[in-house]
Amino acid sequence: MYTEDIQEGFDQSFLGKAFQDSLLLLFNQAMKVFKVGVLGATGAVGQKFIKLLSAHPWFTITAVAASSRSANKPYYQAATWVETTAIPDEIKNMTVQECLPDQLPNVDFVFSGLDSSVAGQIERSFAEAGIPVVSNAGNFRRDAHVPLLVPEVNPHHIEQIARQQFHPRGEGFIVTNPNCVCVPLTLSLKPLSDAFGIDSVVVTSMQSISGAGYPGVPSLDILGNVVPYIGGEEEKIMWEPLKIMGTLQEEGTIKNAELGIHASAYRVPIVEGHLLSVLVKLKQPEVTEQQANEAYTNWKNPLDGLDLPTAPSQPIVVMDDPRYPQPRLHVNNQGGMQVSVGRLRKAGLFDFAYTTLGHNTIRGAAGGAILNAELLVKKGYIKGR
Ligand code: NAP
Repeated sequence: MYTEDIQEGFDQSFLGKAFQDSLLLLFNQAMKVFKVGVLGATGAVGQKFIKLLSAHPWFTITAVAASSRSANKPYYQAATWVETTAIPDEIKNMTVQECLPDQLPNVDFVFSGLDSSVAGQIERSFAEAGIPVVSNAGNFRRDAHVPLLVPEVNPHHIEQIARQQFHPRGEGFIVTNPNCVCVPLTLSLKPLSDAFGIDSVVVTSMQSISGAGYPGVPSLDILGNVVPYIGGEEEKIMWEPLKIMGTLQEEGTIKNAELGIHASAYRVPIVEGHLLSVLVKLKQPEVTEQQANEAYTNWKNPLDGLDLPTAPSQPIVVMDDPRYPQPRLHVNNQGGMQVSVGRLRKAGLFDFAYTTLGHNTIRGAAGGAILNAELLVKKGYIKGR
């Protein structure tokens, strides 16, 4: 729960103002606030980081960094701000740094929203300098000892960090979050997988234009149109869930889940939110619609009780109205961190069909990475420097 929510709770209570202020002061003093840098701070995901972190109770941005095109400029000049709220005051005039560890000496860890053409080398240099990296980029997702985390699905994969060798004392490490389609896909499959096992999946994604970053897809390509191809996307959707849903082995590597996935990725003219049509064949035969619904109701969220500020109280919601979920109506549910499932039904050739929706730049990128960092703090992997 963020400080504003606590403040709101106090405002509604009978406590006097002075007493409220001293309680809030004590609360803030009890929390260690971590200093964070944002790499790729000027991009679409970087901006979402800045927006979400401006109200974060545990993390405060002390550095923003991007390419040499942006370096040495005040943030408001370097970034083409596309968020609907203003640039936070404390960031507006911050000088953008180059993405070099010695330019960001005063950070406990960094978030990365870097373009994948440069993320590999830059993220490695931070980890080698002893600075943990919580990344959105795809470069290290296949690394044998780098966790590919969706905290509600595979929180224990965090233990892979102990095997990383970027830094001699293990102070620098890399944790990644998956491609933005794989978050709603794996979260929505998880209750079915736990209850019945999954044999195979066919997924068709309808992906928003913000998924291509800024300036992204040319308007002449996408206005009033659908583009039935997104370069490199289908390969990620067919591979990443196997690692996320895989088994952590004693030697710290992941044995991929044995399940077949076929994916088709379409770019559609919506701004935020990826909508997926999913067909799933289960390992257990003759599961009824009621049993499938009960799998979602009975699923236990492994983050319950951890009190992570960005964790949605209900990560997966199943909607009854057959017209739902819809990107415009539901993408921002629970701060953009909730994944919606609808139209869960028996499907002829497969066992079940359903639709699922996730926010690509929040749940599928910046918000997901912030949740990863909160888990890293809670589990003692990020301690501050
Ligand atoms: P974007 O809008 O194109 O932003 C890219 C960022 O990388 C900018 O801050 C840019 O800085 C920086 N950059 C580019 N070249 C650089 C260099 N040579 N050195 C240092 N910084 C450099 O892309 P995005 O959509 O935010 O995506 C960022 C990353 O997140 C990508 O790896 C992407 O695959 C991943 N991701 C995106 C989404 C999504 O929905 N958009 C979801 C999940 C994951 P300048 O402004 O200075 O050029």
